Amino acid sequence: MSKNYGILKITFLGTGTSQGIPIIGSDHPVCLSENPKDKRLRVSVLIEWEDYAYVIDCGPDFRQQMLRANCKRIDGIIFTHEHSDHVLGLDDIRPFYFRQGDISIFAHKRVLKSLKKRFDYIFKKENKYPGAPSVHINRLKNASFKLKDLDVLPVNGLHDKLQVFGYRFNHFAYLTDMKSLKNKEVKKLKGVKVLVINALRLEPHRSHFNLKEALEFISVVNPERAYLTHISHLLGFHEEVEKTLPENVFLAYDNLQITI
Ligand SMILES: [Zn+2]
Repeated sequence: MSKNYGILKITFLGTGTSQGIPIIGSDHPVCLSENPKDKRLRVSVLIEWEDYAYVIDCGPDFRQQMLRANCKRIDGIIFTHEHSDHVLGLDDIRPFYFRQGDISIFAHKRVLKSLKKRFDYIFKKENKYPGAPSVHINRLKNASFKLKDLDVLPVNGLHDKLQVFGYRFNHFAYLTDMKSLKNKEVKKLKGVKVLVINALRLEPHRSHFNLKEALEFISVVNPERAYLTHISHLLGFHEEVEKTLPENVFLAYDNLQITI
C-alpha cells in the first residue's frame, strides 16, 4: 500500500448485530443493562483523515449516528453488502445531499442493483421527486481503488453464501459479516496494525464468526490490536466478555474512537 496519508481516525458508529441492542421488547439481561457499552446500534464506522470523512455502511441507525458523531459532511459511503442492517439508512443522506450535491457511494455491482431496487427514487434520472437525494455511483470489483489520496483494498469473504467486501485502508482493516475467507484474501491482511472483525456470539452461526472463530482469525492475521464488532446480546455483558479476551483483543463499543 502506498503513501503517507497521515493519521486515520476511526469512530465506531454502531457495533451491534442486525436487531441492535437492546432488542425491542426483550427482557434479556444484556438488553436491560444500563452500561452504555451494552447499547449497540447497527454496525458502521466513520473513517476520517485530513479533511475527508467516509462511512462504511449506512444502516437504519444512520441518522442517529451522524447526529451523535456530529458529522456535518461526508465524502462517501462504502458498502460491505446489501443486507438491511447495512443499507436501510440511505434515504437519510438527504441533509448531506442538500448541502453537498450528489453523494458518492461505493459498492459491488450486485449491491448497487439491490440499492436501486430498494431506493428506486434515489437512482431515478428523470421526473425525480424534488426532495429525493442523488448519488454518484462507484462500482467496486475485487481490486484496489482510491478514496481521494488513500488506497483501499477490498477483502472478499462469504456471509453464508453471500459475497461480502471487507476493506483494508493501509494499516487498518474493517471486516464485518464474515463467515469464511479464502487464503488469498486473508493474505491481503498481512501487516495490518488494527483489525476489526465480526464476532456474533458464543454459539456457532451459519453466516457469522462466533467468538472462537473470530479469535482464530485474529491469530492468523496477527495484527497488533483487534476489535470485535457486529455483536449480539447473546455474546454477554461487555465488561464480562472483555475480561475473557486475549491482551490485544477488545470488544468495540459505540462511540469508541481509535487512531492509526
Ligand atoms: Zn449485518
